[in-house]
Parts: sequence; C-alpha cells; structure tokens
Amino acid sequence: MQLSQQQIDFCMECGVCTGSCPVSMTLEGFSPRQMIKRTMADPEGDILESKDLWACLSCSRCSDRCPVKIDFPAFIRTFREKAVEKGNTPRLSHHGMFQTISSIQAAGTVQNRIQWAKEAGQIAETGDYFYFTGCIPYYDVAFKYLDLQMIDHAKNIVRILNRMGIEPVVSNDECCCGHDAWWNGDETTFSNLAGQNMKTIKQSGAKTVIFGCPEGYSVFREGYAQMFGELEFEIIHITEFLARELPESGLAFKPESTDETITFQDPCRLGRRSGIYEAPRELIRKVSNGHYKDMAHNRENAICCGTTAWMECSACSKAMQIQRLEEASQIGADTIVTACPKCQIHLTCTKKNTNQDIRVVDLMSYIADHLE
Ligand code: SF4
Ligand code: SF4
Repeated sequence: MQLSQQQIDFCMECGVCTGSCPVSMTLEGFSPRQMIKRTMADPEGDILESKDLWACLSCSRCSDRCPVKIDFPAFIRTFREKAVEKGNTPRLSHHGMFQTISSIQAAGTVQNRIQWAKEAGQIAETGDYFYFTGCIPYYDVAFKYLDLQMIDHAKNIVRILNRMGIEPVVSNDECCCGHDAWWNGDETTFSNLAGQNMKTIKQSGAKTVIFGCPEGYSVFREGYAQMFGELEFEIIHITEFLARELPESGLAFKPESTDETITFQDPCRLGRRSGIYEAPRELIRKVSNGHYKDMAHNRENAICCGTTAWMECSACSKAMQIQRLEEASQIGADTIVTACPKCQIHLTCTKKNTNQDIRVVDLMSYIADHLE
C-alpha cells in the first residue's frame, strides 16, 4: 500500500510517530514524520538513497498511535524495492543465510522438511486444517548454538492439534511465507513464494490454515490479501485457534507447579499488526497458577524484540532487547513466554551476553508441557 497525497494531507505533523519510535531515540535524525514529508515532496528523491529506509523496524508503534492512522511501515515498504534497484540495500543478518534459503525455495526446490512432523504425531496429506510451519525447520538448525530446540514449537503444535482430534496437513511443498522478502523489498521472491504456497494450500483442500508464526500469519493477512484478493480459506494464528477451540475440545491443563512469575512478549506482527493481544494471555493464564504479570510496556505499547526480516540488527536492536529483558526482570519474571520464533531467538541471543537469568520460552511448548 502506498499512501495517497490525500492521506498524507491528513498528517497533522503532531510528531507522535517520531516521539513513539524506538529507532528515533537512538539513531540521530531518524524521523518518520520528516520522512513522510520529504518523500511526498519528492517521491524519487533522497529516500531511495537513504539508509533510514532500512532502519525502520516496521514495529508499527508509530502507526498504532498516529491519530489519523497513517501506516508508516506500509508506506516505507513500498519504496524498498525501488531502493534495491538503485543499489541501496539493507545490511542482512546471519550473512544473508535466510534470504538465500527463501530464494532457493522460490526457485521451486524440492524439500524434505516434514520428518519432524512424523516424529511428533499424526499428519495428513489432505484435510480441513493446514498447519503452516514456516521456516521453523531451518531455524532449528541455524540456532542450535543458542541451545534452542526451535522444532519443538512445531512438534508441539502437531501434538496439541492431535489431542484435539485434528490431523493437520503438513506439506513438503510448503515454502517460506515470503514475509521477509516482502519487507526486504524483494517483491519477485515474495510473489514466487506466495504463488507456490497458494497452490499447495489449494491442493490440500484445507478450509483453515493455522499459523504458529505471527509473521506468516500477518503476511497472509496483508501481502497475500493484496496479491490474491480475499483468500478462499480461513487464516488463523494458533493462539486464537486454541483460545476459540479449546473450551469445546475437552483438553485440560495441569497448573504450573512452581511459584515462578511468567510474563509475555507481544510480537509486533501478532499484536500491533494483527490486533491479537488477549488470546495468548488467556492461554498462559490457564496454566500459570496466578503467577502471570504483564511487563510495564505491554499490548499496543510493547517493546519490539529489536529487529525483523533478518536485517539491520544494530546497536538500537540490542538496546531494545536489553531494555525488554530488564523490564521482565523488574517485575520479578523468571520466564518470558513469547508466541514468535524470532522474539525467542533475539531475546535469547542478547540474554546470553548479559547476566540476566530469565528463561525465554515458546508459548506452544509451555502449553504442551502443561497438558493433562
Ligand atoms: S503521528 Fe501521524 S499525524 Fe502525527 S506526525 Fe506522525 S504521521 Fe503525522
Ligand atoms: S514502524 Fe517502528 S521503527 Fe518504524 S518508524 Fe514506526 S515506530 Fe519507528
């Protein structure tokens, strides 16, 4: 989406966006308000050469607070492809490994990515429910050095769904959702990935696609909907699905057996970009034995985990991650539960370099551990 001149005219120049932006606090001269003004005056101008184009985390704190609802991340995203064409590219994290994996998948490479699912439980080739696993099998390998068993998130979703009587479709033909390509300004890779995924889902016959990763969910809501129009199947994040279906499922939980304090990291793609705040809290409260506490910044005001789309991991990202860990510490939290694989990775990575003694745990593993 590119904002129209009329929409930009709604900008009251109140500066709430810049005042809310975590990047503006650390990167001198970075101002969403000024970028909108300059860009509308000259759309082919300095924004395409500017590194500020990539510094935005697309965390949506500014757009959520903007009194006239100008979606700054959506606005800036539309300039990224043109900037790449001009040689203005982002600094990729992890040597660009994840962008390479997406490109290989976009080229239609045959994958063997579902061995883990057969170990976890019963899966199907066709059926009403498609579990979209995203890049978790790749993260599992890439982040072993952080002592993270990322694949447990996916295995536990299959286990929970099986306990609810659902044998989800899990497919070798699923590929990266394209979220990162979409936000990296790589529209060609995004459209190739999206086209393949739409074909795979259609062939499965699924009526509902369940996402474990908020990024996959949000790019289907935004990018796929823009590209394909109204989707022919329901899309739902696993936290909303469980909050909706668990009461009728007959599943019960063992309450937390310790006095540990639990808190929740709202992922930007689940919270501010999709409006889902209560479903994960509802699930955590079912098992936390009354020991759940929100951090000072929560829900719409939550602090982002510091980076997205595997790019521009900077001093600002690290400062945000440290601030988040300190906030958790300030409320006496022993465990931060998060519903996003990237939040789990980023907070764990920074925690390893601090003396913070807080566990960062995936929500699905937390829930599965407490199933009766
Ligand atoms: S918050 Fe919205 S209205 Fe205020 S300066 Fe930013 S874009 Fe303009
Ligand atoms: S999306 Fe986040 S990082 Fe980007 S300008 Fe808005 S508040 Fe700043």
